[in-house]
Amino acid sequence: MRGKLIEETTDTGGALTGPVGGLLRRTSASVLRTLLPTCCALCGQGGDDTLCADCAAQFFGAAVAAARCVCCANPLPGALAPAQHGEQFCACKQQHGPPARRLCGLCAAHPPAFDATLTAADYATPVDQLVLQLKFGHRLALAALFARLLRDAVSRQPGFALPALICPVPLGPRRLAERGYNQALEIARPLARGLGVALHPRLTARVRETTAQSSVAPEQRRRNIAGAFAVPDAALVRGRHIGIVDDVMTSGGTLDELAATLKRHGAARVSNLVFARTPPR
Ligand SMILES: [Zn+2]
Ligand SMILES: [Zn+2]
Repeated sequence: MRGKLIEETTDTGGALTGPVGGLLRRTSASVLRTLLPTCCALCGQGGDDTLCADCAAQFFGAAVAAARCVCCANPLPGALAPAQHGEQFCACKQQHGPPARRLCGLCAAHPPAFDATLTAADYATPVDQLVLQLKFGHRLALAALFARLLRDAVSRQPGFALPALICPVPLGPRRLAERGYNQALEIARPLARGLGVALHPRLTARVRETTAQSSVAPEQRRRNIAGAFAVPDAALVRGRHIGIVDDVMTSGGTLDELAATLKRHGAARVSNLVFARTPPR
């Protein structure tokens, strides 16, 4: 029964294998491109991909993912990007190794319940518009793009330990009925496939409807989200590294509460995979 609940995501996507299968796949992909011409989701420029190379470099390039706190993914002030501190000489004329894994002051002083956070972009114009289109505009095709960009961010972060199992931040039944889908699950599904990690959509549950954290005053957010989550089957969590997927991380309060709930049920480690991170004020 437990096995049935887990969506195994290591399939290769169907039976089209070998040279004939490859030709069929390429042909159907090019026919689809002709019938449904794609354009860049950010600038609208026509092309073969949902994101043009210029926008990919500008908003999701290595510089965006660089020099962030390993715990909460906030930018580290004064830190140099890996490209500057990679195998090349930096301004101080010294050759450095990879940048040290560093914590921001807030995580050092008050460690959250999660252990790591990885993000693909800053939650800022124009990326925020994409997030809103997925969340409220039913543009579900964007979830695959977000998953690909998150997977790219994982591959740019060599020290990032892959979780054993990933799950989305759960929505309550009322919110799920209103929206019709959980945008975090829509991202988690292709992300799990891309990373070769098992997905468990119902590893955690929301047992209490909460007011959206964005519309609650910062000092009331902890109380708003406290006790909102449950772990229906602790045996799935015990001793394992769990990855939590969400579209946006703002204060981190929701992810902190969810990680604390998972740790209370025995999770060994919790890592967040969030598409976009709100920059600190
Ligand atoms: Zn573009
Ligand atoms: Zn931090």
